[in-house]
Amino acid sequence: MNTADSESLARKLLAAGYVEDSLDRADVAILNTCVVRQASEDRVYAKLHELKEWKTPERTVAVTGCIVAKEGATLGRRFPMLEPVVVPIGEYDDFVAGLDARYDYSQGEALPPAGRTGISHFVRVIEGCDHNCTFCIVPKVRGRERHIPFDDVVAECRQAVDAGAKEVVLLGQNVDDYHDPNGRGGLAALVAAVEKIPGLKRLRFMTSHPQDLEPQLLEVMAASDVICRELQLPVQSGDDGILKRMARGYQMRHYRAIVERARTLMPDIGLVTDVIVGFPGESEEAFLNTRRLLEEIEFDVVHLAMYSPRPGTFAADRLADDVPAAEKLRRLNDLLALQKSIAARKTARWVGRNVQVLVEGHDELGRVYGRIRQGKRAIVLKGGDIAPGELIHLRVMQATAGQLTGLPAA
Ligand code: SF4
Repeated sequence: MNTADSESLARKLLAAGYVEDSLDRADVAILNTCVVRQASEDRVYAKLHELKEWKTPERTVAVTGCIVAKEGATLGRRFPMLEPVVVPIGEYDDFVAGLDARYDYSQGEALPPAGRTGISHFVRVIEGCDHNCTFCIVPKVRGRERHIPFDDVVAECRQAVDAGAKEVVLLGQNVDDYHDPNGRGGLAALVAAVEKIPGLKRLRFMTSHPQDLEPQLLEVMAASDVICRELQLPVQSGDDGILKRMARGYQMRHYRAIVERARTLMPDIGLVTDVIVGFPGESEEAFLNTRRLLEEIEFDVVHLAMYSPRPGTFAADRLADDVPAAEKLRRLNDLLALQKSIAARKTARWVGRNVQVLVEGHDELGRVYGRIRQGKRAIVLKGGDIAPGELIHLRVMQATAGQLTGLPAA
């Protein structure tokens, strides 16, 4: 979501004549912030402190993103010497107009409409979240759900593809809850319409929610050559008691049923999940239920986090943070080691297979890289003059937990 916001603001600035530059040469520094975890929020304040040296009366510091919703005007009081311009998410026109009144730039280079790389275009289809997971700050900072009309989404995707995008990524904090405000349907209907856009090579969407995922969505995915075979489906815990305390709205049998159906329809589907260890009340047995789930499902990627209370959430205000820090760390390290071995084992299964790769660019070693339909990163050896945006076939020679490496296949 933050990348999509940054792209949107960057496009407006570049269209107004600004160019990206290094901080030491820039007149304007913009921080697009995330506060989903305390560590992210701490990084924002660290960056703002760093900017004190950089700031001069001629220079502008702007802050946008979730911290604006959370802290708003207090940023000005906390950093008076920075005189930060506070820009609410999505309200970029006034900000750009304010800069125009201060600076005079008219020679910018237009950003490709598809985004910085020109390959992927992010489209927000739903903003905010109507859930109230007890650990999560998002509903407070991003507000209740707003759904972008179906026709507007399809039109934006078509425009991006016409301008050169090869991949479209539909975004929402809970993308599965999407429904057209004019009654044209939910996410399954939307992806079914978008995937038919001529010239679109890949369609992805994130992030899903086990309670809201429509069964038809899996059918639409399975029947498509364009929609990626990847589900980002946060489970958070493998224990029903903890899920209830988290107010996630589903039980493990429901989660398992989704995974089973997805794998029946798409045996090679990539599964990505999020897990929090050490949530209030997480007993050893509850933790072991999560551990057993990881062993059983064999996710491709697990984003693991230790629970830390976010002020302003139900869990922080009402539930005792009763798992000692050392125990949280032990559980985290245990699952990290477990998942590392699972991911290595799973990825090794790709060796010897041909996979389809959408080429995204060149890495720091000059090698061609891209992503397979199941989401894994792939390095193309002897990629020669394969250009970003091409769909190629790769014979996988090597696999590590994080990526595949291979040679172009006929
Ligand atoms: S569904 Fe996701 S964004 Fe919404 S409250 Fe729960 S964790 Fe936060």
